[in-house]
Amino acid sequence: MTETLQPVRGMNDVLPDDSAAWQHLERVARDTFAEYGYREIRLPLLERTELFKRSIGELTDIVEKEMYTFEDRGGDSLTLRPEATAGIVRACITNGLLHNQRQKVWCMGPMFRYERPQKGRYRQFHQIDVEALGYPGPDVDAELIMMSARLWRRLGLTGLSLNLNSLGTPESRKGYRAELVEYFRRHEAALDEDSRRRLGGNPLRILDSKNPAMRDVVAGAPVITDYLDEESAAHFTALRAQLDGAGIPYVVNPRLVRGLDYYSRTVFEWVTTDLGSQDAVCSGGRYDGLVVQLGGDPVPAIGWALGEERIVELLRLQGRAATGPAMDVYLVLAGPAAERLGSGLAETLRDLAPGLRVETNCGGGSLKSQMKRADKSGARMAVILGEDEVTRRVATLKSLREDVPQRQVPLDELPAELARTLHAAGHGRE
Ligand code: ATP
Ligand code: MG
Repeated sequence: MTETLQPVRGMNDVLPDDSAAWQHLERVARDTFAEYGYREIRLPLLERTELFKRSIGELTDIVEKEMYTFEDRGGDSLTLRPEATAGIVRACITNGLLHNQRQKVWCMGPMFRYERPQKGRYRQFHQIDVEALGYPGPDVDAELIMMSARLWRRLGLTGLSLNLNSLGTPESRKGYRAELVEYFRRHEAALDEDSRRRLGGNPLRILDSKNPAMRDVVAGAPVITDYLDEESAAHFTALRAQLDGAGIPYVVNPRLVRGLDYYSRTVFEWVTTDLGSQDAVCSGGRYDGLVVQLGGDPVPAIGWALGEERIVELLRLQGRAATGPAMDVYLVLAGPAAERLGSGLAETLRDLAPGLRVETNCGGGSLKSQMKRADKSGARMAVILGEDEVTRRVATLKSLREDVPQRQVPLDELPAELARTLHAAGHGRE
C-alpha cells in the first residue's frame, strides 16, 4: 500500500463541517467594516524578504526565527507573509495610495510563521486585518477599537478584555530605553539568552517575553507610561476619554509593548481567559514611522489584526459557532424516467425560487436509500418523483420533519407550493 501523505505540521484543513463558523465570522467582519467605510485590499502572500526585515525589525521573534523564507528560481529572497501590515503599507506606497489621500482598508487571509505548533498557535493561521493610513488619531484609534468591540458584540462573544498602552514616540522612548537597559543589566543573570541578545538592540522586546522564568524580572522593570512625551500623553488621555465615552472598558497595561518594532503611541490587545495560554485574540497599534521607514512620505497609521483560529475556537466554546444551513428540499428520483426529468426540474426550481436550497439525488439508489439520504441532508421536504408521478406530471411532497400526510402537487405548481409550504412552516429565508 502507498504511504498516506501527511499535511505540513502546523497547517490545518478547515473541513466542511467547520467552514460555516469561519464564513459567519468573515461575513460579520466584512459587513461591519463596510459600515465604517473600510474597503478591502487584496495582496500577494509573498513579498520580498527585505520588506519584513525592514518593517517588523531584525531583532524580533518573527524575523529572527519564524519566517518562511526561500530563494525563488530567479535568486530573489522571498518570504510568505507573517502578518499583513507590512504588505499593506508596501502596496499603499507602490500604488501611490497615500498621495494626498487617506486610506481605510481591511484584508483577510493566511499568514505564515514557523512557530512551535500547539493549540491556538499554528504555522499557517488566518488573520482579519484592518488599517487606517493617513490618520494621526486619537479619534481613529478609538474608532478602530470600537469597531473591534462591535465585532465581538455581533458575534455574541463575551469575556474579552482590552489591554491598552502607549509607547510614546521613538524619541521619548530613548530615555525609557536607557533606564530599561540599566535595569536589565543589573538583573542580567535573570535574563534568558534571547533577552540578553536583545539588551543591546531592542530592550523593549524583553518586556514581551513569553518565558515564564522571566516574569519576575519583567514585572519589576520601569514602566514606559512614566516616560511619555507631552503629545503622546495627550493622545493617550484623549483616546481613553473617547473609550470611556463609548462605554468600552479597558485596562491600562504598561507592560504591553507588542512584538513588532514599528509601533508608536497606541498599542492594544484583546485577551480572553477561555483559551489557555494562547490568550490574545486581537492585537494592534499605531505605527506612525513605518511608511517613512519603507520609503514613503511621513504618514501616520494604525491597525489591528485578529486571529481567526482563536476567534472560531472561542465561538465554539461559547456556543456561538454558526452551523451550515440545512437543505430545504431533497429531490428523490426513482427510476430512469424520473432521473431524466429530475435535473431539469431542479434547475427550474432554482430559477423560480432563488435561495431555495435544493439537493438532487445523484447516483441512483432505491427509494428507501434515497429517503435515507434525504433525511440525512437535513432537508425539510422530500420531493419524490417516481414513474407514476412522471406519467401524471405531478410530484409527491413529503415533509421530513413534521408529521403531516404526504400529498401530490402538479409539477408546474411545485415552485410556488414549495415556497408557500416552507414559508408557512417558518423555514423560509429571512
Ligand atoms: P501571540 O502573543 O499569541 O504570539 P502575536 O503578538 O504574535 O500573538 P500578532 O502578530 O499581533 O500576534 O497577530 C495578531 C493575532 O493573530 C494574535 O492576537 C493572534 O490571535 C493571532 N496569531 C498570531 N500568531 C498566531 C499563530 N501562530 N497561530 C494562530 N494565531 C496567531
Ligand atoms: Mg507571536
